[in-house]
Amino acid sequence: MERNTAAAHRKRNLLLTGAAILFAALAVVLCLLFRPKPQIAGSFVIRYGDGRTLIVPAQETRTVVIRDGQLADVPTGEGDENVIRIEHGEAWMEQANCPHGACMKQGRLNPDTVEQRPLGAWIICAPHRVYIELSEDGG
Ligand SMILES: [Zn+2]
Repeated sequence: MERNTAAAHRKRNLLLTGAAILFAALAVVLCLLFRPKPQIAGSFVIRYGDGRTLIVPAQETRTVVIRDGQLADVPTGEGDENVIRIEHGEAWMEQANCPHGACMKQGRLNPDTVEQRPLGAWIICAPHRVYIELSEDGG
């Protein structure tokens, strides 16, 4: 009788331990499944025209066309035109018909390149007065 009780005890302990391990494993799997994807923080603040501002969250995929100081739907190559591309948390000047195209040579702007870029957190098209600033404070 005494032995049986001890054996039953051991068996129950084993079951409890097994259940605890299973539960822990399940918790780990659930955590991995629902882990938030790496967040792309911040936003790109585009200034153009007569003091206009367009804010695009950095996680958006978007092409912004600015022509003669106004937002436009599609690039036509007419007027003073800039085509800004925002993708995978970075922004760059995809197209521009400014005299030297300097803004297109300013490369990709993202939190990792800010340190190395001569213009830091900015892409500037001086002739067209189009300015893109990376704002990392989540705004
Ligand atoms: Zn330019």
